[in-house]
Amino acid sequence: MMLRAVQIGLMSGLLFGCADATQGRDASEAVFSGSCEGICGGEAPSGCFCDAECLDSGDCCPDYEAVCSVHASCDEDDPEDDDAGDDAPPPGDQACFLGEDRNGTTCLPVVSIDPYSYPSPLNNNYREPIRYIDVEAVDLETKIAPNWKLAEISVPYKGRYQVVQPHAVDKLQQVRDQAGALVMKSGFRSPPYNAEQPGAASRSRHMYGDAFDLLPQSTSQNNLYNICNSLGAGYVAKYNSGHVHCDWRNVSVDPLFYGNLALAPGGPPPAFTLADLTLSIDTDGEVYWVEASGYDTEEGELTREWSALDEQGEVLTSAETLTFEPPVGTALLRVNVGGLSEVEHAL
Ligand SMILES: [Zn+2]
Repeated sequence: MMLRAVQIGLMSGLLFGCADATQGRDASEAVFSGSCEGICGGEAPSGCFCDAECLDSGDCCPDYEAVCSVHASCDEDDPEDDDAGDDAPPPGDQACFLGEDRNGTTCLPVVSIDPYSYPSPLNNNYREPIRYIDVEAVDLETKIAPNWKLAEISVPYKGRYQVVQPHAVDKLQQVRDQAGALVMKSGFRSPPYNAEQPGAASRSRHMYGDAFDLLPQSTSQNNLYNICNSLGAGYVAKYNSGHVHCDWRNVSVDPLFYGNLALAPGGPPPAFTLADLTLSIDTDGEVYWVEASGYDTEEGELTREWSALDEQGEVLTSAETLTFEPPVGTALLRVNVGGLSEVEHAL
């Protein structure tokens, strides 16, 4: 009976949507005690849950709706979701994007669902999403920014349920504004799709909806690399195929997709380092190359930018090639790999 009372409370919370997330809830009736503060998407020490599944299983912590379930778009009167149709979720569960007109009112419905198993989170920015865009329920031709259609980021075979974070789309458009035409080589990847890709990073940022692989069409790879860095990207890598991976892993994730992280105090500091990237220069006696591991090889090889220095430290020559033959007089080889790190080798 008690459990049932909790479920009815949750149901009314859902039905009333944005009116008041806590309406109809009475923590004193709850079978489970504990708080979701700081653990949206997870399990509280007391054993109650703070993920979307708890709504079905009836084991949510009493304040799940209030803390984790953020109806971010309730103030939008008339969002442009022509395509929501009969599949539209309750009002309020929408992700609103910059849109073609840059007004931030291009909204798409999102669903509360738990379709994938994510890796254990490194920190708040690596939590499992609590909502997704159902790519079968939206118009992929929707322009979520002046120069970007949803279809360029959300490719259905990479997962029916996808995350595209609006703040990352804002950055993506800013990159486009500065870099000119870009081809999106990869946007969102679901965890199952990511796991199938040989060499993919187990915590690829592409699973979190704020990573983009961009191929410049009217500017250099280096310029695109610099633009992403200047726009606050947390990880920028140059690949030999010509694309640049830009993601915003160090910026707070969108509460609509990840719960209200503003209510999560403390927590571990960001754990984003290049510690996993290992580089070593190898040679067959004439030709040199760099062995690199610890990065997302699914995207291809990182660039290698070679400099050959003489005894005085003067640069004799430089080249961007996967392998390199140093000229006579080279005393030191220095290689920048992917714009991420450098490695040196004395001859
Ligand atoms: Zn990438």
